[in-house]
Amino acid sequence: MVNLYSIGIIYYKLYVYLMGKRGPTPQFTNVSCPNKDCELYGLSDQGNVIGNGTYISRGEKTRRYLCRHCGKAFCDHTDTFYHDLRKDEKTIDLALKMSMKGMSIEAISDVLEVQPASIKRWLVRASEQCDKVNDVMMKNLDVPKIEMDELWVIIQKRVPRMKDYEDDGPWMWVAFVPGCRLILYFLIGPRKQYVADKLVELVNKRLSDKIPVFVTDGLNFYREALLKQFGVLSEFPRTGKKGRPKKTKIVPSDDLRYAQVVKTRKNGVLEKVEKKIIFGEDIDQSEISTTLLERQNLTFRQDNNRVSRKTIGFSKMKEWLEYQMKLYCTHFNFCRGHGGLRYKDERGVECKNTPAREAGIIESKWTLRELLKFRCVKTSIG
Ligand SMILES: [Zn+2]
Repeated sequence: MVNLYSIGIIYYKLYVYLMGKRGPTPQFTNVSCPNKDCELYGLSDQGNVIGNGTYISRGEKTRRYLCRHCGKAFCDHTDTFYHDLRKDEKTIDLALKMSMKGMSIEAISDVLEVQPASIKRWLVRASEQCDKVNDVMMKNLDVPKIEMDELWVIIQKRVPRMKDYEDDGPWMWVAFVPGCRLILYFLIGPRKQYVADKLVELVNKRLSDKIPVFVTDGLNFYREALLKQFGVLSEFPRTGKKGRPKKTKIVPSDDLRYAQVVKTRKNGVLEKVEKKIIFGEDIDQSEISTTLLERQNLTFRQDNNRVSRKTIGFSKMKEWLEYQMKLYCTHFNFCRGHGGLRYKDERGVECKNTPAREAGIIESKWTLRELLKFRCVKTSIG
């Protein structure tokens, strides 16, 4: 049977015949073999991947590689975002950037003269790539403080700030690290206890063992959710007396610290702001604020029409809002310089740092294309 794989083997044998088994010194230590059957699949720094020339594809220079271990030939696009997409990379990038600025799929389709179905396909694929990047990069994070809040996403209406206020309307729940402006997680869902539980659970999966200080508004769903995630079962010692022993209950673990900023409004005007420590003691009063997240929510709305516009049915829109917000948030963390994170580089030029670089997750600012082309490889140990 002649298939691509056997052609690869033949090509490789010819290559070995011409270049000798060891071949030239490998230069592409950060590229890994995409062949799932290869022993070195997904591993970088193994010296098995060598360059194999370049070619022009859809107007862009593309590099070819060869795995010396299994003989698989592949290129820059193999198994990445742009792989087998027919449009040129520039048009795709442009469409995604327009989407991140809040333009609708129909509007992008009009401007770029591309079918809406294509733009949808790019958006879905970009959001899948963001999932992969986030899974690999956003883990074991050591952060001192997390702010959580909800934004009403379809219609901006004034809502009463009640302690246990439930609402079916779509809300965007955000967990934010104020120090480095990192968007740790977002969820779209109703304002219900189970969504708060899920947010806290997913946030915890990205954290190291150290529990940060949590600050939220006065919504008590967070209190419950934090208790479920970080609580410990407390059993009362038997007293020796007759009768039923006291029930066990969940109490916050010793290192859980949580505070609320409770705002009271009268006729829509802010009347008083109260800082309440809910769990733990050692919380500085100045830490109890959610102002940076509130500022971030304003940015969400400014950048993203979709978040503040009245549109069609929720379930249909929820799906697309999720794809678009995932791309927006990942791009925000990895690619976008933040005005609040200025620093001077080695030449003394003032630069804006990206949240992910500030948090120590990446070493340099990424472009959208680097984000989309990032290969989520396993790093070899030893
Ligand atoms: Zn291989």
